[in-house]
Amino acid sequence: MYAFTNESSKMTTQTRNASIDDIASTQFDVMIIGAGINGVSTFRELALNGVSVLLIERQDFCSGASAAPSRLIHGGIKYLENGEFRLVAESTLERNRLLHNAAHLVKPLPCTIPFYSWFGGLFSSAFKFLRLPAGRFKKRGAVVVTVGLLIYDWMGRKQRVMPTHKVHGAAKSHQLFTGLDRSVIATATYYDALITQPERLCLELVTDTLKDVAKTNHPCAVLSYTSVTGLDDGSVTLRDETSGREFAVDAGLVVNAAGPWIDKVNHVLGIDSHYIGGSKGSHLILNHPEMLACLNGHMLYFETGDNRLCLAYPIGDKVLVGTTDIRVDDPDTARCEEDEVDYLFTVMAELLPGVQITREHIVYRYSGVRPLPFSDGIGIGKVSRDHSIEVDEPVEGRQFAVASLVGGKWTTFRAFGEVASDLVFKRLGRVRTRDTQGLAIGGGRDYPAGDNQHAFIQTQMAKYALPEALLIRVLERYGCNPGVIEALSASEQAQQPLAALPDYRLGEIHYICKHEQITHLDDLIFRRTTLALEGRATMATVSELAHIAAPILGWDAQQTTAEIERCQVRLPDSIPA
Ligand SMILES: Cc1cc2nc3c(=O)[nH]c(=O)nc-3n(C[C@H](O)[C@H](O)[C@H](O)COP(=O)(O)OP(=O)(O)OC[C@H]3O[C@@H](n4cnc5c(N)ncnc54)[C@H](O)[C@@H]3O)c2cc1C
Repeated sequence: MYAFTNESSKMTTQTRNASIDDIASTQFDVMIIGAGINGVSTFRELALNGVSVLLIERQDFCSGASAAPSRLIHGGIKYLENGEFRLVAESTLERNRLLHNAAHLVKPLPCTIPFYSWFGGLFSSAFKFLRLPAGRFKKRGAVVVTVGLLIYDWMGRKQRVMPTHKVHGAAKSHQLFTGLDRSVIATATYYDALITQPERLCLELVTDTLKDVAKTNHPCAVLSYTSVTGLDDGSVTLRDETSGREFAVDAGLVVNAAGPWIDKVNHVLGIDSHYIGGSKGSHLILNHPEMLACLNGHMLYFETGDNRLCLAYPIGDKVLVGTTDIRVDDPDTARCEEDEVDYLFTVMAELLPGVQITREHIVYRYSGVRPLPFSDGIGIGKVSRDHSIEVDEPVEGRQFAVASLVGGKWTTFRAFGEVASDLVFKRLGRVRTRDTQGLAIGGGRDYPAGDNQHAFIQTQMAKYALPEALLIRVLERYGCNPGVIEALSASEQAQQPLAALPDYRLGEIHYICKHEQITHLDDLIFRRTTLALEGRATMATVSELAHIAAPILGWDAQQTTAEIERCQVRLPDSIPA
């Protein structure tokens, strides 16, 4: 024993009810509320170190802020401006680790900063760092940013896998990036990384951990679509959102990893906290071949007319553009609004003046709330992106302490989970026996790097008699996941292409439905695949996937229709009919 909900369990009503019965009768050391990347990371650290832990999430895994990032695994060069050197050092190291440990999903990304002048001082902390007078310059300029990049290169030196930065003059810059505003006088290119499927990485952390603890004898469990609703006689009350069933769970300590909802969850637990000052960020995915060509495979990371930093980079054959930074009080109301679309169009027009963008180019838009620490009186762009933990000690009526995980970045999830679990070990009188610094994640295990990919594919072709193009696609989507390959090679039927999605095969959808903790159809469309993000979630796709998933997940005709309708509600208006 055990993981109550093991990685291969299909979430049918029966298996779900049985899991809930087991969970309700267990005393856990720790309960984690919120399965965004920070809750999941803390779950992994604790479970791998012998702590019995329950992870609950009111929606699907990775549904909140963790599903809405700019998809960068980055050192955060702009945090040098705020003097956050500790955070940049941690982020660059974690970025380098992820390039090894999750090489299937985290890929190097060349990033280019265009300059409009040689001098400027927004990297004033770089000047502080070098004991030069800050504040003399008002705008970011090539010389100042280059100083920042030198520091950035130096901070990212541990486990470095990518080249250091380069500066290009005007002629070379305009040759590399056609369409760039003619007043750009130089560019600097450095390397960070992008994460192709954050939602998948988050789920892989969960399934890896469940597989691991299934071999041990401490109870661990995960339950999505389960909300915390209150306290009852010292226990935490939970509601199964799929059935409305209420039940209570006992835990010695609660980790509140609800991201932007931390204060709301604390309120439910009787704590009047003000830890979070959320900031909304919205992104657009554009189907715009002309803009894609201008980017030349790079992320353009550029200063806007209002002195913010925005970005645009290729994501498959589309372009991702972001982002806004707007204070919000209620994370549940965050949407990508029309004025944000206008703003992002305006900043892109400043950067690439000849490139026309219209709403017709948008295939998907998304918005999320950064769980920043509460702050008063400073501009939202200046609020620290570092992580911290606030502990509320037990009081009468609540015998357990609550540790709230405030802030953090996707990039630093492992480090934040490590810090959070160290705090738990200390309080439980336990010691760490395993660390995750070099632990490969999901399909990143045995992932063949660079030139080894060809040999790997040839071996798989010989072993499974599958076509080369299919194996290349599987490697790209799932990394080294023998389960998917075995599912595809199980029968001729498994290799059948879907009618609405010829590049997907029946076998891989079967595999996802059986092994990847699917509860609702939108889990499959928004988070186990990138179909929604790519603007490919047409009604024909949704309907075909619903009918493939239904027999596996035990949905009758009525529930299948309900799942399709649920997807329709969640698909933004820009999605093709
Ligand atoms: C616009 C934007 C861009 C970003 N870009 C980047 C980037 O490029 N790179 C980077 O490193 N970082 C980036 N970040 C930061 C990063 O995404 C977040 O800091 C991180 O995902 C926060 O994770 P979390 O687990 O703390 O919160 P969340 O992912 O929000 O998880 C909290 C979870 O708690 C659940 N929950 C809430 N209430 C309850 C309840 N009552 N019961 C049970 N569960 C509950 C929610 O459903 C949610 O899933 C960005 C963030 C945003 C918003």
